[in-house]
Amino acid sequence: MAHTVTLIPGDGIGPEVSDAARRCVEATGVQIRWEEAIAGSTALEKFGELLPASVIDSVKKNKVALKGPMTTPIGTGFRSVNVAIRHALDLYACVRPAKTYAGVKSRYKDIDLVVVRENSEDLYAGIEFEQGKPDTAALIAQINKTSKKHIREDSGISIKPISRYATQRIVTYAFEYALRNNRKKVTAITKANIMKFTDGLFLKVCREVAANYAGRIAFEEALVDNTAMQLVQRPHQFDVLVLPNLYGDILSDLCAGLVGGLGVAPGANIGDGMAVFEAVHGSAPKYAGMNKVNPTAMILSGMLMLRYLGEEKAALRLEQAVQAVLKEGTDVTYDLKADRNDPSAAGTKEMADAIIGKLKQ
Ligand code: NAD
Repeated sequence: MAHTVTLIPGDGIGPEVSDAARRCVEATGVQIRWEEAIAGSTALEKFGELLPASVIDSVKKNKVALKGPMTTPIGTGFRSVNVAIRHALDLYACVRPAKTYAGVKSRYKDIDLVVVRENSEDLYAGIEFEQGKPDTAALIAQINKTSKKHIREDSGISIKPISRYATQRIVTYAFEYALRNNRKKVTAITKANIMKFTDGLFLKVCREVAANYAGRIAFEEALVDNTAMQLVQRPHQFDVLVLPNLYGDILSDLCAGLVGGLGVAPGANIGDGMAVFEAVHGSAPKYAGMNKVNPTAMILSGMLMLRYLGEEKAALRLEQAVQAVLKEGTDVTYDLKADRNDPSAAGTKEMADAIIGKLKQ
């Protein structure tokens, strides 16, 4: 039976990399009926809004989407369309595997770790008070009255909510992911020694959840600053990492850097019974329409989507086809060449064609 999937091409380089991913997914032979939904700056131009309700409705109906990156236009009041989609669909788990592929330049070999980032709260909840506004002054006055600490009157404020509910579901997700994917260890990463009531709560809940998996999945705790150093010095010690939103965002880019950069880093945003797959990278507007950027991250996001749809064999074949093209290093984009100005670099479309060629062999 065909799967129906919402395809959000995105903007900037989004349409090019989404098209490459769509064609590669189709070349596995899995039957997919794509329902295209326009969001981002293309939707703003066409319909006057960045995130039409029809986009959210389509994902809610189909339960699965493949999404290209989208630019956040400055001055629209939107923090990010991408974040808005995650919030609207309550896609609480951001899952970003970082895996070494032969042929991709990186400092290490054989890295295979997964970042599981909480997607719904923390400093990214979007609860902010602008410096100089009356509400901000009132909030500061209230805090200064009730807390022993003093906040300067000319401050801006961002709120960092971390709840027991959201922590429990993300940490449970991380452990269940570890079990399903034959992983051995989950490391909880916080700054619980400093932020006792937010990160401290996150860690407390991590310990409670970990107890349910004792003897099956190992559990470790680490501080985020030390983890940043450990990831650079000894990345192989990590397996599954579970983190609050902000640290997860930062360390997942670090992990992408460990395996060759944004061009090869896929991701998934997962909620209860619903998922949106997208590359870690953004819309790289300066490369838009040039048929130049690396489609690998988006194609591997398509591979993760196939796995989510239960199409394990097709997912494995697609990953192997990507691996083969990367390893040969011939039909790859400029960023994967030893010299970024190498005139023999493939375009986005041609790299996808080479991957499709491998699938057809
Ligand atoms: P970016 O990831 O778009 O680009 C940064 C740089 O990374 C690019 O200039 C390019 O050199 C490189 N790069 C990115 N993708 C690549 C690829 N596929 N192949 C080769 N090189 C690649 O980050 P940015 O410039 O900070 O953001 C641009 C826009 O994208 C912003 O509006 C931002 O809000 C948005 N954004 C969207 C998402 C998303 O859709 N999920 C994620 C991050 C940023």
